[in-house]
Amino acid sequence: MKKITLALTAASLLATFATANEHEDKKHWDYGQNGPTHWGEFSKTCAKGHAQSPINIVPGKSVSIKPVYKLHLHEDIHTTAKVIDNGHSIKVTPKEGGTVEFHGEKFKLIQFHFHGKSEHTVNGKRYDMVVHLVHQNPKTKQLAVVAVFFEEGKNNPVLDNVLSGIGKEIRIDPQDLLPKDTQHYYHYIGSLTTPPCTENVQWYLLKQPAEASKEQIEAFRKYYVDNERPVQELYDRTIEAE
Ligand SMILES: [Zn+2]
Repeated sequence: MKKITLALTAASLLATFATANEHEDKKHWDYGQNGPTHWGEFSKTCAKGHAQSPINIVPGKSVSIKPVYKLHLHEDIHTTAKVIDNGHSIKVTPKEGGTVEFHGEKFKLIQFHFHGKSEHTVNGKRYDMVVHLVHQNPKTKQLAVVAVFFEEGKNNPVLDNVLSGIGKEIRIDPQDLLPKDTQHYYHYIGSLTTPPCTENVQWYLLKQPAEASKEQIEAFRKYYVDNERPVQELYDRTIEAE
């Protein structure tokens, strides 16, 4: 009997260690205990990079965009898309994405996700919500993110489609997320706003916000309200505007 008890104790101790180790391995960045000030522990770039995102945009200090960096959007593609709650955001992965074009290169839409408040600020103003449309150049793997700010206003049918589709596959046209005016934006070179905070990301922030109803903003915030990284130093970067 004693032997069995000992064996059991050893087994349960081992089990405890295994759980503790697993837990150790699972230490993961977040917006709480392992929040933005700790992200350097997950990737040095987050703490030491000099081209990080998001930033505060000061329109008065921006310069005219170089013509080759003008943005051409071709997002109008009807597609099916998977909607998931990935623990940091509501993320939508279209089966077939549209493209954006600048500098003679094409970037394909690979996913888009939402933040419960905008990460970039404009003259210190934080918008009610933002969607980040993440594009990738299939050849160079470089990323280009188009950010669409949301302001409280009319109900936005495409957001209802996303909200009711969490955990499912939906039919969507990502162009429906864009505001009417897509010709005016800010552009600069930054990073991913989550670990590993990889740099050399081309950011395009549309000036005109889209609308979302109060109920829709609240519905997104039920999932994530504080999933925005604080604004980062600009250092020697220039913000271009169109
Ligand atoms: Zn984002």
